Amino acid sequence: MNYPKSVESGAQMSCNCPVTQPGPTLASTCGGAPFMLFMGLLEVFLRSQCDLEDPCGRLEQSPLFPEYDFIIVGGGSAGAVVASRLSEIPEWRVLLVEAGLDEPTGTQVPSMFLNFLGSDIDWGYQTEAESEACLNENEQRCYWPRGKVLGGTSVLNGMMYIRGSRKDYDDWSKLGNEGWSYNEALPYFLKSEDNKQIDKVDRGYHSVGGLLTVSQFPYHPPLSRAIIKGGEELGFKSRDLNGEKHIGFSIAQTTNRNGSRLSTARAFLRPFKHRRNLQILLNTTVSRILINPSTKEAYGIEYLKNGGKEVIYATKEVIVSGGAVNSPQILILSGIGPADHLKEINVPLVQNLPGVGQNLHNHVAFFVNFNINDTNSAPLNWATAMEYLLFRDGLMSGTGISEVTAMINSKYANPSDDHPDLQFFFGGFLPTTTQISNSSSADS
Ligand SMILES: Cc1cc2nc3c(=O)[nH]c(=O)nc-3n(C[C@H](O)[C@H](O)[C@H](O)COP(=O)(O)OP(=O)(O)OC[C@H]3O[C@@H](n4cnc5c(N)ncnc54)[C@H](O)[C@@H]3O)c2cc1C
Repeated sequence: MNYPKSVESGAQMSCNCPVTQPGPTLASTCGGAPFMLFMGLLEVFLRSQCDLEDPCGRLEQSPLFPEYDFIIVGGGSAGAVVASRLSEIPEWRVLLVEAGLDEPTGTQVPSMFLNFLGSDIDWGYQTEAESEACLNENEQRCYWPRGKVLGGTSVLNGMMYIRGSRKDYDDWSKLGNEGWSYNEALPYFLKSEDNKQIDKVDRGYHSVGGLLTVSQFPYHPPLSRAIIKGGEELGFKSRDLNGEKHIGFSIAQTTNRNGSRLSTARAFLRPFKHRRNLQILLNTTVSRILINPSTKEAYGIEYLKNGGKEVIYATKEVIVSGGAVNSPQILILSGIGPADHLKEINVPLVQNLPGVGQNLHNHVAFFVNFNINDTNSAPLNWATAMEYLLFRDGLMSGTGISEVTAMINSKYANPSDDHPDLQFFFGGFLPTTTQISNSSSADS
């Protein structure tokens, strides 16, 4: 991953994806021109709404206090939740700083998620040129989508509610991460969750009444059920992959509420937009954390807004939740990272931490494409659009067969571990086109 020397140059690097714009290319490759035209027109219409459920409730920026108890850098999947939870304590002043704007209404329509990959709410990163991967990509650089918007990547992801397997958590705990074992993490999942299909999932692993609504999409394409049946024919159970066992096929539960995307911003911030002790700065990029070099304590942030640089102070903590790419970038710009690299880019050293910005892993993924003549699926047209807008149901209320996933063991996995090392994604949900793709990826 290429870390820019400054946030300003970082923004240029990330937004000007050379030659091909990866997101739209991805969408139009999968969906074709008719799909993009249809979704584009519909999105123009949706822009006239504010929010599908909360029509006039934009999350506004308020005037700033000179200092806050907590400053949270990045209002994405994690940052929105942290801001929401900390501001439950009325005495604490909490500031959430987000580089992007509020989420566009179209992102709330599950079937539109491809439209926003590569759009202006995506940082649009690309990896450095890879010698043995991304072989089909421009200059062998992989496109790496990341949300630049309140709610972060939860505004453009596939919405599957998959927690990971018990062994993952227990292994993290064994590595010295206190409090991260599965049994210690589970109560927090339960606290957050409002499962609308509590009778369909494994008992003891789910709950109701939390802020994060979880359920399957209202509509399943016939092909989704066919894939599940195919899995069963191969001997795999269809099951709750967040429950007792982790190997099997599933029409996943997703973070949707009544057929619309529930980003962490909608789930955890919007209900508390009137809290006086929580303020949200949008369109504001943090350029570094202010750290006292003698005590090594963070005491504020420097940020870029409207072309100017400003600082603001924290009396308790600065919490960095800028995501897997930007959090290390912010640390490096603040003087925390490999000493030789900091010297190279002329950033004064605060703490030599050689691991910062290293060892980034993602799925190893490969795609298998095939054509299928699916005459059972409803077509995507204005009738399905109206069905969605009026009833939040039908084809547009889901991500098509992308809702299906499977976790299985490769020959390298230990069968007694219940720790699958392969995940199947079934991408493709575009009934106006004939091309449906199937991809599989090996988890790193
Ligand atoms: C295409 C795609 C599909 C996915 N599908 C799924 C799925 O189905 N299920 C699932 O569980 N996961 C999925 N994921 C992964 C999941 O979305 C991410 O792991 C998760 O959202 C990361 O959360 P985060 O809080 O670490 O970062 P993010 O959600 O990316 O949040 C980081 C935030 O920090 C902001 N920020 C960054 N730098 C600065 C700065 N300098 N100043 C101010 N703000 C800053 C960003 O703009 C962003 O809003 C998917 C990811 C992608 C890309």
